[in-house]
Amino acid sequence: MEPDYILCDSHAHLTDNSFANDLDDVLKRAREAQVGIIVVPGNDISTSERAIQIAKEHEGIYAAVGLHPHDARLLELERNTLEHIARVGANDGTVVAVGETGLDYYYNLSSREDQLAAFRWHVGLAHELDLPVIIHSRKAEEDIKSVIKLVGVPTASGVLHCFSGDKDFALWGIDNGLQVSFSGTITFNMTADAESGTKITPLRKTLIETDSPYLAPVPKRGKRNEPAYLPFTAEKLAADRDIHVDDVYAETTLTARELFQIPVDFGGAIIYEIGGNLYVNLTNRCTNRCVFCIREFSDGVGGYDLRLRAEPTATEIVEAVGDPSRYDEIVFCGYGEPTIRWETVKEAARAIKKAGGYIRLNTNGLSAQITDTDITKGFPGLVDEVSVSLNAPDAGLYYELCRPEFGDKAWPAVLDFVQKARAIVKTRVSMVRHPTVDEEVVRRFAEDLGVPLKVRG
Ligand code: SF4
Ligand SMILES: [Zn+2]
Repeated sequence: MEPDYILCDSHAHLTDNSFANDLDDVLKRAREAQVGIIVVPGNDISTSERAIQIAKEHEGIYAAVGLHPHDARLLELERNTLEHIARVGANDGTVVAVGETGLDYYYNLSSREDQLAAFRWHVGLAHELDLPVIIHSRKAEEDIKSVIKLVGVPTASGVLHCFSGDKDFALWGIDNGLQVSFSGTITFNMTADAESGTKITPLRKTLIETDSPYLAPVPKRGKRNEPAYLPFTAEKLAADRDIHVDDVYAETTLTARELFQIPVDFGGAIIYEIGGNLYVNLTNRCTNRCVFCIREFSDGVGGYDLRLRAEPTATEIVEAVGDPSRYDEIVFCGYGEPTIRWETVKEAARAIKKAGGYIRLNTNGLSAQITDTDITKGFPGLVDEVSVSLNAPDAGLYYELCRPEFGDKAWPAVLDFVQKARAIVKTRVSMVRHPTVDEEVVRRFAEDLGVPLKVRG
């Protein structure tokens, strides 16, 4: 099963004249292409106002307010109005960032002095309004760094949009707490330097954007760009990094939602209660493709729809759980594999435990492959109990039933995980009843492992 996640286009100039006649069609195509969130930056007062208007009229659209470096010479004329509309928009939730601002030493349409003054002013405004800043940089890396050093990264962070710099500039941004946004240019023939920028940026720091109407990705290159073309960039990013495109959808949308503080309709339930336990649905992604996986046959369990359009942040999970002491257990399970989101599990579990919750982790036992670390070391004080999907008494049956993407490394890894987990916390294994598996044989195998077996229907 492929998750039905939405994408966030973190930068689309829907205020451009080229969208004047067919904006509704453009937005309809965006929705059909799973692009559920769009951030529309402002270039001056009139486009900032228009961005806010579009945001008010359409679900999933948010505005940013700013003066483009090309027009930086207008700062004195426009700053008071820009500040006013940014403040009002931030209060009513339509404005989620300051920008676009930055420096463009390629076109130099405003003088460098004017650009520097305007950029400093925008970063200061982002500090004041507690909004992230959207930074445009073209041939101006050193001065971008100096201004940020001088004024400081806003508490709400920021993004290097339409990234075209080299590896060092990407690293500098990440070290300074900024995110990096890639556009359709990654589908063009890139220089080795620019390419390494896309590869070294961790997925959780990565945003994607169309920068519509410019820079349409291959295979639409040369056409007017629009948000519906964002999946081409997502697919290229996944191919470059050799990861699932679902990971790009899930993580870039999460990063964008966290940066811009954008709430979302999850589509499915992120928590659900069954028999006194509260289950947390963190992800629909999994590294196995079990033949009996309920995701293949149904949209959820116990009457709950668990198909997500986006994954919850740790804060959203903690808020949804509320008072954990009302439940016997808080179970991190997901309609997928929770350790794919181990950092979020840790963050949420820490807060829930502090509030008196008892934490169980339901996992496929492949976290060592998924995270490249031994997560059991983090269990003390965080996870009270673990349930591992074993499903089979030997490697052959396991591979036949669970079809792990890690191939023949998976079975030994599951057994190793069970041993490590049981040395630290209460651990059990589980199996789903299946005609090819003898329950008693699995039970004896579990006994040999030194853990109890839970059989599911
Ligand atoms: S491990 Fe669980 S979520 Fe993943 S495919 Fe198997 S049954 Fe489905
Ligand atoms: Zn732009």
